[in-house]
Amino acid sequence: MSTLPQERRVVTAIPGPKSQELQSRRTASVAAGVGSVMPVFAARADGGIVEDVDGNRFIDFGSGIAVTTVGASAEAVVRRASAQLADFTHTCFMVTPYEGYVEVAEQLAELTPGDHAKKSALFNSGAEAVENAVKIARAYTKRTAVVVFDHGYHGRTNLTMALTSKNMPYKQGFGPFAPEVYRVPVAYGYRWPTGAENAGAEASAQAIDQINKQIGAENVAAIIIEPVLGEGGFIEPAKGFLPAIRQFASDNGIVFVADEIQSGFCRTGQWFACEDEGIVPDLITTAKGIAGGLPLSAVTGRAEIMDAAHSGGLGGTYGGNPVACAGALGAIETMRELDLNAKAKRIEAVMKPRLTAMQEKFDIIGDVRGRGAMIAIELVKSGTKEPNPEATAQIAKACHAEGVLVLTTGTYGNVVRFLPPLVIGEELLTDGLDVLEAAFAAL
Ligand SMILES: *Cc1c(COP(=O)(O)O)cnc(C)c1O
Repeated sequence: MSTLPQERRVVTAIPGPKSQELQSRRTASVAAGVGSVMPVFAARADGGIVEDVDGNRFIDFGSGIAVTTVGASAEAVVRRASAQLADFTHTCFMVTPYEGYVEVAEQLAELTPGDHAKKSALFNSGAEAVENAVKIARAYTKRTAVVVFDHGYHGRTNLTMALTSKNMPYKQGFGPFAPEVYRVPVAYGYRWPTGAENAGAEASAQAIDQINKQIGAENVAAIIIEPVLGEGGFIEPAKGFLPAIRQFASDNGIVFVADEIQSGFCRTGQWFACEDEGIVPDLITTAKGIAGGLPLSAVTGRAEIMDAAHSGGLGGTYGGNPVACAGALGAIETMRELDLNAKAKRIEAVMKPRLTAMQEKFDIIGDVRGRGAMIAIELVKSGTKEPNPEATAQIAKACHAEGVLVLTTGTYGNVVRFLPPLVIGEELLTDGLDVLEAAFAAL
């Protein structure tokens, strides 16, 4: 259904004249605190391409931060959301409910790990889902403490800033933060002092020891972790870490929350990343990829936990908006029909060997990691593990100038991350990697 040619094309300087004009209007009218990765303004986007107002076509290695997994104008999303728009835009689920919300909850029960009875509540943003997971876990356990991890990211609201690890840019100057939040180590293999092979066992032992000694397990309502840490730098906790933490939560009546807002919905080649180690979370938070670009998020989990909050205790004016729900049903339909889990694995099969070959050629590539279509390279100073954010910024800039939209990330700002839409064509993928390789060669 796409009318947008699936090819890279740079026809002006980046940014082009129309983007520059919009940029000056933006600077005058939009708050400076809202940043943008690139100063080009989007006109259309579909498949693996974002086209700007000057007619430049960028290969999309970002998916609007892991959102447009099915593409930015997927047929089923457009069809279902358009039909819903024509019927009604809003009634508020808390006033007069509608079927789409229930259908999304049914889909979430089916798709998330575990065959126990599950229920969901829908919200607008990822941060809102995480906040509500904490509310639900506290209501269920009648405890207050929340445990999160080094390099974790959970959002920009007051509670989720507290849950987030990195100060700049997320927290600086925005405190005081919500109390009863505790941070413990995560098994970051590449940077674990005694080596990646020891990281799973040692980090989980340290985390559990800190929880026991500093908080007391009996005071912990929830442990929240991203099965692949997104903003922290696509850190896959070393093998054994997640199962050990999951077990500790079970043994101590703690609600284990998997924050799959970035890693969920086929991104890693599974419906949810925690499936790779057989983890069944008590609660799972989803957003980003869930609705093909429309704002929707969810908390899904064990029925008895989800039902712990009193009637009227959860919700929000727009939560589970009918158009966003229709978009989600279209996105899920697309994921099933196109078998996007298989596509994610195919993207990994194309990207990983290319990136590994680049690592052998360019010694500033310290690590290649991730899975499915959630892949990253960590850049370091030659011959060391010292983070290299300068080179990271230069590589990203060089890619942007050549028409490849890449994002950076990581606690140290030294990770280039690749989050292509899962519907991207293989030629675009290869072309984008060629541009990346040329950027390293030119550095
Ligand atoms: C993006 C993200 C969030 C926050 O989602 P928003 O929709 O931006 O509020 C929370 N957790 C993770 C893991 C994320 O990647």
